[in-house]
Amino acid sequence: MTQRIAFLIRRLQFPRLLFLALLPVDPVKENYVRKVKNCIFSIAFPTPFKSRVRLVAVSKEVLEDILDLDLSVSKTDDFIQLVSGKKIVFGSIPLAHRYGGYQFGIWADQLGDGRAHLIGIYMNRQGEKWELQLKGSGKTPYSRNGDGRAVLRSSVREFLCSEAMHYLGIPTSRAASLVVSDDEVWRDQFYNGNITKERGAIVLRAAKSWFRIGSLEILAHYGELELLRTLLDFVIQEHFPSIDVKEPNRYVDLFSIVVSETAQLIALWMSVGFAHGVCNTDNFSLLSITIDYGPFGFMENYNPDYVPNTSDDERRYKIGNQANIGMFNLNKLLQALNPLLDPRQKQLAAQILEGYPVLYYTRFQKLFKAKLGLLGEREGDDDLIAFFLHLMEKTEADFTMTFRQLSEITQSQLLELNIPQQFWALKTVSEHKLFPAWVSQYLLRLKSNMNDSDSERRKRMTTANPRYVLKNWMAESAVQKAEKNDFSEVRLLQQVLRHPFQKHSAAEKAGYASPTPSWAKDLRVSCSS
Ligand code: AMP
Ligand code: MG
Repeated sequence: MTQRIAFLIRRLQFPRLLFLALLPVDPVKENYVRKVKNCIFSIAFPTPFKSRVRLVAVSKEVLEDILDLDLSVSKTDDFIQLVSGKKIVFGSIPLAHRYGGYQFGIWADQLGDGRAHLIGIYMNRQGEKWELQLKGSGKTPYSRNGDGRAVLRSSVREFLCSEAMHYLGIPTSRAASLVVSDDEVWRDQFYNGNITKERGAIVLRAAKSWFRIGSLEILAHYGELELLRTLLDFVIQEHFPSIDVKEPNRYVDLFSIVVSETAQLIALWMSVGFAHGVCNTDNFSLLSITIDYGPFGFMENYNPDYVPNTSDDERRYKIGNQANIGMFNLNKLLQALNPLLDPRQKQLAAQILEGYPVLYYTRFQKLFKAKLGLLGEREGDDDLIAFFLHLMEKTEADFTMTFRQLSEITQSQLLELNIPQQFWALKTVSEHKLFPAWVSQYLLRLKSNMNDSDSERRKRMTTANPRYVLKNWMAESAVQKAEKNDFSEVRLLQQVLRHPFQKHSAAEKAGYASPTPSWAKDLRVSCSS
């Protein structure tokens, strides 16, 4: 074993050791699908692949900055074995987490880590604890009818997007590595009876915590209130240092932070046109980070009705509904906390929840003001934003590139209303008859920015408006190559999305800042993963 891996392993606090004293583990040790009661975790070992395993990609930053590993270790056999679930760190007992949740608005009862294994908690040189989880690593007691596997296409998407979100400044789980095997995994990708052979892949994911709203819901649902209290106190102690764990109001304090941070997270998603796709309560983190990437999508043409997941028939998780769903999920969180609250605390928590829409709206406006380069507060700012979004919607303009090009164009070019061809998305918006009216309002408003210049404005706006986001067609193009063991585009995207605000020549050549190619117009993404 290489020295560096040995170092990582020495510093891994085995999940069982860390949690055991505090968070109960299922006494049943056999790995079969069942209803699990009165515990937070079940012991479950990954099922290694039978065939050869290839390394598709690694995140240099996660390895170096989070796991204190040199990138060169990723070339070693020990590394591949560790990240594919073949080698279990000596003494470690991997765990699968028991949780429940509301899926598409309906209580789904027990869900849990059906294809994920917590393999360790790493305390890094900065003293941060990171929970390391394999996804796609085999069946657990929570697998229900699933096979415990994840296919390459969905793993490439999760790997690329979670890292991309981090570099967009959006709280998220991270991805350390992605491996693919030749093990057969069968999927009916579009639920139309067309079952095809795909390959099993595993992502090594890292997050400060993987606990979700559903982690608490399952305990409340089964009346396991002592356990609910234990888990809440653990989460507060570990992750909410501003809350005193002895304070009688601590659960209300926790709720207040989660409400506020969830509002912030969803506003951030909206600011980059990100639709999560499956905003079930089991996919909403208690730390308000983005987790469980599935049929997500970055909106292309601005459209509040955009739904990334073709399996979402009722359009419940359309992009423009995410803030409302945040409210729904927080309400479910409150229901899970309620058995531990006295009447006064219940009332307080209900009031906090009532404040969510204003919190969300305030954050949304702040982010969109920054996207427009507006400084300070002026009457009419909200209208200026809404007006611009309206023009984008009517002209079906590309959300990401319109904002980006508005960041790149000069005020004098705007004033002339003659938008150069290179600003293709903005040019689309300019076809609307009210565009001149919007431009004159906008230019007038920019004049009221104190101590500003046009080059300062453009500089500021190019740090608020990314040039590259992981549009479906880009992920699809990388996936198609990866299916043929050509991982070059996965790696190119990874590189480009590490600096989404900087122009990158290979990205330009690949068309990542160009209109969506015609072959990709009808791309679909389903829940199948
Ligand atoms: P998701 O919406 O993908 O986050 O997953 C919802 C639930 O389904 C979770 O409990 C997952 O662990 C479980 N699940 C999804 N796919 C599989 C699979 N292939 N095998 C076992 N469980 C799965
Ligand atoms: Mg999930």
